[in-house]
Amino acid sequence: MKKTRIFALAAVLLLTACTPDAPYQANISFFSMDTYMEITAYGHVGTSLDDCKDEINRLEALLSVTSPDSDIGRLNASGMTDVSPETAEIIKYAQRIGGETNGALDITVYPVLKEWGFTTGDYKIPDGDTLNALLQKVDFTQIKADDSAIPAVTVPDGVQLDLGALAKGYASDKAAEILRENGITSALINLGGSIMTIGGNPSSGSPWRIGIRNPFSLDENIGVIEVADKAVVTSGSYERCFTADGKTYHHIIDPATGCPAESGLVSVTVIGGSGIMCDALSTAFFVMGAEKAAEFHREKGGFDMILVTVEGEILITEGIADTFTNLSKLPLTVL
Ligand code: AMP
Ligand code: MG
Repeated sequence: MKKTRIFALAAVLLLTACTPDAPYQANISFFSMDTYMEITAYGHVGTSLDDCKDEINRLEALLSVTSPDSDIGRLNASGMTDVSPETAEIIKYAQRIGGETNGALDITVYPVLKEWGFTTGDYKIPDGDTLNALLQKVDFTQIKADDSAIPAVTVPDGVQLDLGALAKGYASDKAAEILRENGITSALINLGGSIMTIGGNPSSGSPWRIGIRNPFSLDENIGVIEVADKAVVTSGSYERCFTADGKTYHHIIDPATGCPAESGLVSVTVIGGSGIMCDALSTAFFVMGAEKAAEFHREKGGFDMILVTVEGEILITEGIADTFTNLSKLPLTVL
């Protein structure tokens, strides 16, 4: 009799632990890649969140532009260095997107960024001659990476790289890979605004609802997008900027002018299966503007996007017309 009662109690406890209403949730937050990161995962998480953190810190040590010991730091100092195959792959990927976006994404824009002070916070408006001289060094096609087991990368004198436009997206892909390998089927990875989702939200049994920041009122969301197993990456002029003589200058540089891009957009969100793709494209589209981004979408596809224009219009692609909710009073157009 007593035995039966113990068994019944154990069964109830087991059922409670397994009920879909109360999934085990684990969370980790840390600072890496110059930003605050947070990962939430559900289920039997084990050490996988710590593994994600270690992986992201490993990538920072490999790719950071400010660390003299990273692959990028060594390349920028010497113009030629052996790098890990992974670094070479990311460089080649950036070159590919650079080509497809007609140079809107250019990972050699770093000397220009430095001149504006975006790397140190010591902001200034460079004069035209200085910018023109620096622009001679901006050309991603000048980077040569060979295909050997330990790839050698070379750049001409004065050319310097910065993978800041796509490193976080790449890191989000790697974190998702680790979680999936550990059997996690539900997680939200937020690497300072580069978001990657695994599955849906187990609490509600529905997709993740990701808020898109309102560039005109940063405490609010302009809308919400529902996603599962997708990256959601935003580039916004509000992220890093300074004001001088009544004009605001931001950190996304148009490689054609050497100045902060003035394409008529204030934010670009790209939604798709790959974090590195969404990150690279969001930066590139910010430079290209709405018309060229829409043209790119029509020609290549494989992603969706939310564009917010300087005039206060929201443009979204048809693929998310049913999953994006406009929370603002701004007019919305489906491209
Ligand atoms: P994101 O926040 O992903 O749009 O990336 C912006 C960062 O990428 C900047 O802080 C710079 O480090 C770098 N960057 C700025 N403009 C460009 C550009 N046109 N191409 C590539 N990287 C850029
Ligand atoms: Mg980016």
